[in-house]
Amino acid sequence: MKLSICHLYPDVLNLYGDTGNIICLKKRLEWRGIDTEVTLLPIGANADLSRFDLFFIGGGQDFEQEVLLTDLHGGKDKEILAAVEDEKVFLCICGGYQMMGQYYLTHTGQQCDYIGALKLHTVGSDVRMIGNYMFKCAEESSGSTIVGFENHSGRTYLGEGVSPLGTVLHGFGNNGEDHTEGARFKNVFGAYCHGPMLPKNPEFADLILQTALSRRYPGTVLPPLGDGLEINAHDHMADRMEKQ
Ligand code: GLN
Repeated sequence: MKLSICHLYPDVLNLYGDTGNIICLKKRLEWRGIDTEVTLLPIGANADLSRFDLFFIGGGQDFEQEVLLTDLHGGKDKEILAAVEDEKVFLCICGGYQMMGQYYLTHTGQQCDYIGALKLHTVGSDVRMIGNYMFKCAEESSGSTIVGFENHSGRTYLGEGVSPLGTVLHGFGNNGEDHTEGARFKNVFGAYCHGPMLPKNPEFADLILQTALSRRYPGTVLPPLGDGLEINAHDHMADRMEKQ
């Protein structure tokens, strides 16, 4: 068995250890004897996106989110939309999450028109939302508690047909107002969670992998891993936040 992962825009969208998510996915598959192929797709590189099982997009600064626009609208946008419709799995963090939405109006008034794979939009604010944070995923998205780090100016508002990924327990989440965090639409998972997200949130990491595997190899069930260290790291951060 093999999963093909596409890392979109690793040259411009990669903050606070985001690439660690790829290492984590690879390792969790390797521990189960499943092969992985990772294809990096920076600005200017092309590939047939229909051949991938799983897409990862990290976060970026406003400037970098603007730099990629020409490349995005040169054809990748349509391929991404098709992959979403085809129920491919996407993990999109912060700037990458904003990119899957309709637009991002930065705090300096620059409008980045994105692809609208998810009906959501983001508006930049002069006050950044920064810090360790924690949220509880909706049952359909593992029901687990996620710990991570957020740092964004953008406030994201979800539109029709898009569910929050979870509910904020500590920190800001989508906009610091409605207690929602992230988004789930089909098999697209968006979140503001850096850190990176997956290594200390193993239940959620396995949801991503299980969803991609089930699509490629129906009936496959991932065997559980020990996860002692991962759960310790998770609980340590959760405790720190609960005591604040
Ligand atoms: N530049 C975006 C914002 O400030 C995304 C930040 C990020 O990816 N951490 O909202």
